[in-house]
Amino acid sequence: MIHFNRTVARCVFGVALALASASSYAAQPAAPPAERYVWDLRDLYPNVAAWDAERKRLLAELPKLEALSGTLGKDAASLRRGLDTISAVKLSLNRVGVYASLEADADQRVSSAIERRELAKKLSSDFDKATSWLTNDILAIGAATVDKYIAADPGLAKHAYFLRDTVRRAPHTLSPEGEKIMAAASTLREDPESIYEMISNADIPWPTVKLADGTDAKLTNAGYTRYRQVDNRADRKAVFDSFWQVHKDYQDSLGATLFAEVKGNVFSAQTRKYPGALASALAGDNLPDGVYRTLVSETNAALPTLHHYLQLRKRLLKITDDMRYYDIYPPMFSLKKVFNIEDTKTITLAAVAPLGREYQSTLREAVNARWMHVYPGEGKRSGAYMNGSAYGLHPYLLLNHNDDYEGLSTFAHEWGHGMHSILADKAQPFETSSYSTFTAEIASITNEFLLNDYMVANAKTKDEKLYYLGAALENIRGTMFRQVMFAEFELLIHEAVEKGEALTGEKLTEIYCGLLKRYHGEAAGVMKIDDLYCTEWSYIPHFYYNFYVFQYATSMVAAGYFADQITKGNAQRDTYLNVLKAGGSDYPYEILKKAGLDMATPTPYRTLFARMDRVIAQIEELERTPGK
Ligand SMILES: [Zn+2]
Repeated sequence: MIHFNRTVARCVFGVALALASASSYAAQPAAPPAERYVWDLRDLYPNVAAWDAERKRLLAELPKLEALSGTLGKDAASLRRGLDTISAVKLSLNRVGVYASLEADADQRVSSAIERRELAKKLSSDFDKATSWLTNDILAIGAATVDKYIAADPGLAKHAYFLRDTVRRAPHTLSPEGEKIMAAASTLREDPESIYEMISNADIPWPTVKLADGTDAKLTNAGYTRYRQVDNRADRKAVFDSFWQVHKDYQDSLGATLFAEVKGNVFSAQTRKYPGALASALAGDNLPDGVYRTLVSETNAALPTLHHYLQLRKRLLKITDDMRYYDIYPPMFSLKKVFNIEDTKTITLAAVAPLGREYQSTLREAVNARWMHVYPGEGKRSGAYMNGSAYGLHPYLLLNHNDDYEGLSTFAHEWGHGMHSILADKAQPFETSSYSTFTAEIASITNEFLLNDYMVANAKTKDEKLYYLGAALENIRGTMFRQVMFAEFELLIHEAVEKGEALTGEKLTEIYCGLLKRYHGEAAGVMKIDDLYCTEWSYIPHFYYNFYVFQYATSMVAAGYFADQITKGNAQRDTYLNVLKAGGSDYPYEILKKAGLDMATPTPYRTLFARMDRVIAQIEELERTPGK
């Protein structure tokens, strides 16, 4: 695996939010959207023919990359020339990929666009094959000579991070023969997730429940997220009972797939001589496992804050008997306020004022260019993301703007990503511009915090203010507590397998139940969790992403820290902007540490929980204030 691959910066965060809170999309607009709200792909290529010509040119380059094998170690200049050649192809290839994926996402019914996306994917995997020798060639040069070459040739400076990182992994890299076996085994390791997806998306017969108003609610995954938040409490209970009973019926199969996934991770970690599956998963970013463990322990220590929120929620929902797990999703406050796309731009620009005039003016230019596909449309991909893979050009954003606060918040979030890419691209050469997943959600969530603080400060009525504060609480619950509970579950099940234990559906439910009850304060009388709902683990696809979700939480922690810092002065603001400008020029843990944020220590976590305490206190104070 080549480490300087610039992966498509897709907003995976949206996946977590979809699980954390309900999201629905507006009906299709009647008329096609104005041209200025549709991205202009001609910035990439004038037309499809030009795109295809470029793709073919790059395909013809691949044999030359393959022929570089065995030539890099000769001297510093050979190493530089080889890496420069690979880099140049990679940069162009990313653009080919961006064009094809954006075009396909805009309307997935266009089969020629889908075909082009497949061709771009093929080009990318052909590139990987043509350069698969690279790691072994660098390891053969050896750490001392690599260092000597870097010192001798200034042109190698931009490749230094990649080179040293490759050398760092030497103890966990197998012989060429061993790597070949691991590559072959890696296709087998994709099977648990594929089987899980099959059962979860195709085989499970989704139940239908009749709601009090006569609606027949079909509980697909999307139906579940929609109906679990309805006002009628008996309806919510019916939705939960049916949805989780079906998962219980499939518990044995879904347990077997998750056990297979975990065994695969443990196998890979052991073969690569890591002390454990967690260490192996964190090794790519060179993250100390203290980050993971501090996240889990600090979040556990802050459970009273979550319980305080749940008690507030109970009061606001006017629940007089026990609070139940199905009471977690209905909104506490509502807001009927329209934020059309132009309002959304204006408000976001005002909200990021603490980031300075330069940031603001860059963002103003960006949001008014044709870099966004704004409105929902038939055949268009759902959700929202930023694609920043066209280095040296500009980011593109896909939105499904809905004229509500969620749409506004998503806009600020995605433009956080967009500005991160713009700043990193400007400050870094291509080779170190791409930032890691560990830092990828910091800029986006920082913008969400700045937006929320701005909305609270500028709310016209008490009800409006309460709505924004309520949204802030839900955001922290869903991204922090829920994701850390998932992260702790992942850790527990991997450790169990490492100790030689077997996992079954029943065992997984038992482990998950313990966490669900502890996090939601059952022993303290905060919430009652029905055992049936403890099959929730079987519904979370992220457990097949190998220690991934903790990064949602750590990103929010870092964002909370920076959102507080930014308002303290220009020096603190610049420190934050330097984190964004650093791109992928260093390990993410080091980039943050240089900015005064040590993610292996308790302080940043406590800063975020203090923010949550403040929000709860604000709501409680408004509750005591008479009037609307
Ligand atoms: Zn995001």
